[in-house]
Amino acid sequence: NKIEDDYVMGEALGKGKFGSVFMCRSKLTGVEFACKTLPKGEETVHREVEIMQHLSGHPGVVTLQSVYENGESFHLVMELCSGGRLIDRMTKEGRFSEHTAANIFKDLMLVIQYCHDMGVVHRDIKPENILLTASGKIKLADFGLAMRIANGQSLSGLAGSPAYVAPEVLIGDYGKKTDIWSAGVLLHALLVGVLPFQGDSLDALFEAIKSMKLDFHSEKWQSVSKPARDLLERILTRDVAARITAEEVLSHPWMLFYTERTL
Ligand code: ADP
Ligand code: MG
Ligand code: MG
Repeated sequence: NKIEDDYVMGEALGKGKFGSVFMCRSKLTGVEFACKTLPKGEETVHREVEIMQHLSGHPGVVTLQSVYENGESFHLVMELCSGGRLIDRMTKEGRFSEHTAANIFKDLMLVIQYCHDMGVVHRDIKPENILLTASGKIKLADFGLAMRIANGQSLSGLAGSPAYVAPEVLIGDYGKKTDIWSAGVLLHALLVGVLPFQGDSLDALFEAIKSMKLDFHSEKWQSVSKPARDLLERILTRDVAARITAEEVLSHPWMLFYTERTL
């Protein structure tokens, strides 16, 4: 089957580096989906599809419905996240309350923990790749840079988005904990309203990531509660071995205090 046989294409939802994403509607059921079209030349398309299929068992991962192939492209039909991107909600709201931030962060940590347990490093955790459902639940998207790694295996290629990249990625020897760092950059943005590392050039930004000391006791972070600052500090730790894991984040006092417990 061709995608045109099964779906009616709709409005554009977003544009990324390689592909574009459009809304589409199943001719059979009338249900709406998102369709990401990627050029066939990219070897990474196969990996993106394979990893999405591998991770389909978690409610926090965007589900892949089906894949179509034609002359020059692949079409990935995915579950539609009609609530838009987290980045747009952040731009609109500025800073989030600690309660809201903790609950978003808990859901993000649960899905990152799942990816890691399944042997996958996402490598591009940022609010442009975190989508929202109609009811506001987060869904991790864009597995275009994701990699499956064996226990103890490390990666070396520079990948990710400059402001979110972990220091060990810049050095060129990294693994799952890189996702925790990127999530920490995001948590900082949620709580403070700005990114923790900035620079006038890419070099200046990377220099800040590799060496800037974040003193969470300084004036700048006074509006953030002490437990939240403690968590940020434990995540934005350059020493990878000392940086906390997803499990440890989930049991941190700040997370437990603000997130609803489900039995
Ligand atoms: P890229 O790899 O090019 O960054 P993404 O997978 O991140 O592509 O998708 C690009 C944009 O398309 C997203 O930021 C988002 O705005 C939109 N998008 C992607 N997937 C969905 C989806 N399942 N539902 C709604 N919008 C989506
Ligand atoms: Mg993306
Ligand atoms: Mg991508």
